[in-house]
Amino acid sequence: MSARRPNIVMILTDDHAAQAISSYGSVVNRTPRIDEIGQLGWRFENCFATNALCSPSRASILTGTYSHVNGVTTLVTPIDASQPTFVSQLKAAGYKTAMIGRWHMGDGDGHDPQGFDYWDVILEQGEYWNPVFLNPDGKRVVEGYATDVFTDLAIDWVESLEGDDPWCVLLYHKAPHRPWEPHPRHQHLYTDPIPVPDTFDDDYATRSSSTRRALLRLADNLNVEDLKRTPPVGLSYEELALWKYQRYMEDYLRCVEAVDENVGRVIDWLRERGEFDDTLLMYASDQGFFLGEHGWFDKRMMFEESLRMPMLLSYPNAVKGGRVHSGIVTNVDFAQTILEAAGVESHPRMQGRSFWGDLTGVDPEPPAEGMYYRYWEHDDIFHHAPAHYGYRTDRYKLIYYYNDGMGLPGTGAFVYPGEWELYDLVADPAELRNVADDPAYSEIRARLTEAMLREQERLGDSPHPSQFEGTAASGAEAHAAG
Ligand code: CA
Repeated sequence: MSARRPNIVMILTDDHAAQAISSYGSVVNRTPRIDEIGQLGWRFENCFATNALCSPSRASILTGTYSHVNGVTTLVTPIDASQPTFVSQLKAAGYKTAMIGRWHMGDGDGHDPQGFDYWDVILEQGEYWNPVFLNPDGKRVVEGYATDVFTDLAIDWVESLEGDDPWCVLLYHKAPHRPWEPHPRHQHLYTDPIPVPDTFDDDYATRSSSTRRALLRLADNLNVEDLKRTPPVGLSYEELALWKYQRYMEDYLRCVEAVDENVGRVIDWLRERGEFDDTLLMYASDQGFFLGEHGWFDKRMMFEESLRMPMLLSYPNAVKGGRVHSGIVTNVDFAQTILEAAGVESHPRMQGRSFWGDLTGVDPEPPAEGMYYRYWEHDDIFHHAPAHYGYRTDRYKLIYYYNDGMGLPGTGAFVYPGEWELYDLVADPAELRNVADDPAYSEIRARLTEAMLREQERLGDSPHPSQFEGTAASGAEAHAAG
């Protein structure tokens, strides 16, 4: 064990699904450099986002708190950047700290990064080409491809440091976020037909109406800007879905290719500096993404592909390599874990569970029994994804869609009642059969509801009033009725 405090590099991508990482079993691409982190350290099999959306996940990672505590519940609720974060804790303990790339929690007015010695971030969604950066000196355009440019800037900042203080850099990529614009050097890749996932033709037979209403369908909801060309005429619905899937995946995977290369650049650079073994290097995505599963693209929903964050971590001087962590961890846990690895105090406000002890074997905290989820951004005009909360254990997933704001004005009546879904992840890992109203699962559902409410209360959140109005109907009932 090194006496020196580790340097810290957190590489965070935007919308990179675990299914598009080879060490997570990808059948569509290879990511040797990202995999290398897991080979030299740990790969996390069950790391989940507590609110599977860009800005909220970023805020949870940084502050170590849930959305209802840090206030970043949706894409339109910017961060109060004066909140304590793991970075402000590191800085107070003598670390040099920097934030490079996609901040995406608001601009100006107290929303710009705080607690960093240096920050240089793209505005709002930002561009894949010649991105506009904002730093304390103002705005400027940096020519080049975003994934390459961000990596350059992060490396340049570390290279500019003098003295022996440990440093922490957050390298937050835009890729592979919509609209998926790859670099021409990868244009030749993935031209062969890309296999579709098993659940591509999901018929939604037992799901809630909330799930069925979401506009996340490849065939219906990917537009010409996403696809960069007009689909051929005369295709059937099934043919159109396949055509769009291929086009979408080509660009998505090409964007991932540049990420993998740039992760490799960081690894090689750390090695050249002789600092790889002494660095806590993390790779994660702010949440997962649907790559055609259930006929969907995008995220938001509590289904596995969206909920799961790929996460790999290495720090050879402190933890052994080639390991897989299968317990439940979340984005809220990152802050305290990083701080413990660095030997720096957590902030008392932080709500996570440090999993550092799981990796070192030294005083591990009791394992998490489940994870609490809440997607707050209800029914936005582009995706119509319903707000919901839920609870996932190693075996089951319970979800409540409360359909807030879908009432008839002035009547207090809900057009769409609250709805439940329950999945048995062992019997039905693809989440195709909602068993919320299956009598065989009634006891399990009651137990999970209780566990969810307990966890919700422990975290200082509260249930939606509709949950207790007796209006809750299952997917099957709502389907029959409507
Ligand atoms: Ca995202």
